[in-house]
Amino acid sequence: MKANYINGLWREGQTTTADINPSDLSDKIDDFAVAEAQDVADAVAAAREAQPGWAGLTPQVRADILETVGREIVERKQELGDLLAREEGKTLAEGIGEVNRAGQIFKYFAGEALRCEGGLIDSIRPGVAVEVTRQAVGVVGAITPWNFPSAIPAWKIAPALAFGNAVVLKPAEWAPASAWALVEICSRTDMPAGVLNLVMGPGRESGAALVANPDLDAMSFTGSQATGAAIAKTCLENHTKFQLEMGGKNPLVIVDDADLDQAVQVAVNGAYFSSGQRCTASSRLIVTEGIHDRFVGKLKAALAGLVVGDARDPQTHIGPVIDGSQLERIMAYIERGRREGADLVFGGDRVKAATEGHYVAPTLFCNTDNSMVINREEIFGPVATVQCVKNYEEALAVANDSEFGLSAGICTTSLKFANHFKRHAQAGMIMVNLPTAGVDYHVPFGGIKHSSFGHREQGREAIGFYTSVKTTYVGG
Ligand code: NDP
Repeated sequence: MKANYINGLWREGQTTTADINPSDLSDKIDDFAVAEAQDVADAVAAAREAQPGWAGLTPQVRADILETVGREIVERKQELGDLLAREEGKTLAEGIGEVNRAGQIFKYFAGEALRCEGGLIDSIRPGVAVEVTRQAVGVVGAITPWNFPSAIPAWKIAPALAFGNAVVLKPAEWAPASAWALVEICSRTDMPAGVLNLVMGPGRESGAALVANPDLDAMSFTGSQATGAAIAKTCLENHTKFQLEMGGKNPLVIVDDADLDQAVQVAVNGAYFSSGQRCTASSRLIVTEGIHDRFVGKLKAALAGLVVGDARDPQTHIGPVIDGSQLERIMAYIERGRREGADLVFGGDRVKAATEGHYVAPTLFCNTDNSMVINREEIFGPVATVQCVKNYEEALAVANDSEFGLSAGICTTSLKFANHFKRHAQAGMIMVNLPTAGVDYHVPFGGIKHSSFGHREQGREAIGFYTSVKTTYVGG
């Protein structure tokens, strides 16, 4: 059994949940302890106790610890990438890439620990100086989803620790092993007991207990809109600072002058890689009429070449989806698309592989319009839709007609369209001739509209959430 980590000690649970390989349901990775309300309370209390001492260390000490963690993650990326592919179902190459990114994030924030800058400014009053400094927020809760089980915990834990906060992490129940491995690496460094704590278990119990704890200073959440809304409500009641990263229904616009082969590649990668289980996935392909038929023809041919199978088989392009209930949800959306009158031009079925797993064929709907449920709600599976539009102006209007605003892409060879789209697409991240998914670790990540709330994550922007600003007036 893999235990929770509370106040520097591994604590087993009364109950456990099993982490199952979605590529092979007969393969159990391990049992993971479920944190009871008391475990969560103890973790927050330990973090509270440890936080001032951690913030009081020099930034060099914190930087060295984060650097050590980052180095070990990168050195073990093959092994940890394999674990990630085994528990989450993204391909081995994607798993290794994600783990590598988690390591780079720790290394990046090791440097950021040394760059917690402030300012000194003359007062408007004679003989008075004003200092503007940043300090740690305090005890931070982090709740993370299963689709990036290594990178998302890393991009919350690393900046929180860099700037002197203590952390209680609650990873997703379906994929706790990658987060457990990160915390295990941290546990062997010189990080004092209580600075980083891990509480696992179902969100509606362990997660809800963490959010409701009044001693939490801040909560960083990534997951679905519904959970985000509930967390926001509790945080407001408790006066807990919060940031939310939620879903997307990301448009990829393909205009007549696009490089056709590139556009197909960008669409396949953005819509189908990681089995479409990315908040930044290109789920809406908005195609102008001059290129529509050629694009759809080539896209279907590309989909026919994709191998669906065991995530850890090097031949596989598309692994399984995470869980049986997620699979049912995706199949229900596919059925809904059919009933709404969209043309199912590729896939639409479960796939039988050598082992029993949650496999879905890459699926493409054409002749859709933006009012259909399959174009409005996040499906979170290997399913994309095509909408045929007259011209760039209509494409932009359709792209922006969504409650979400995480990522938006355009394929074009025209500087005019690219520049216009950069300015007018309603999203936090814009991609030109690139998939809507796939981001760097050293720049801000996040969206607008209902996709995100609060400070941006990652890059230099992360400091905004994990510190608070203090203004000090010094008289003579
Ligand atoms: P959920 O919102 O169901 O879960 C996210 C996390 O919240 C999990 O750790 C979950 O625990 C926990 N949780 C669930 N209910 C509660 C609760 N009542 N109180 C506290 N915590 C709770 O989302 P999924 O895990 O299903 O992830 C998929 C969603 O995440 C998609 O909608 C996707 O778009 C979004 N996402 C957004 C990203 C972004 O940056 N914008 C990035 C990645 C995903 P448990 O798993 O144990 O239920």
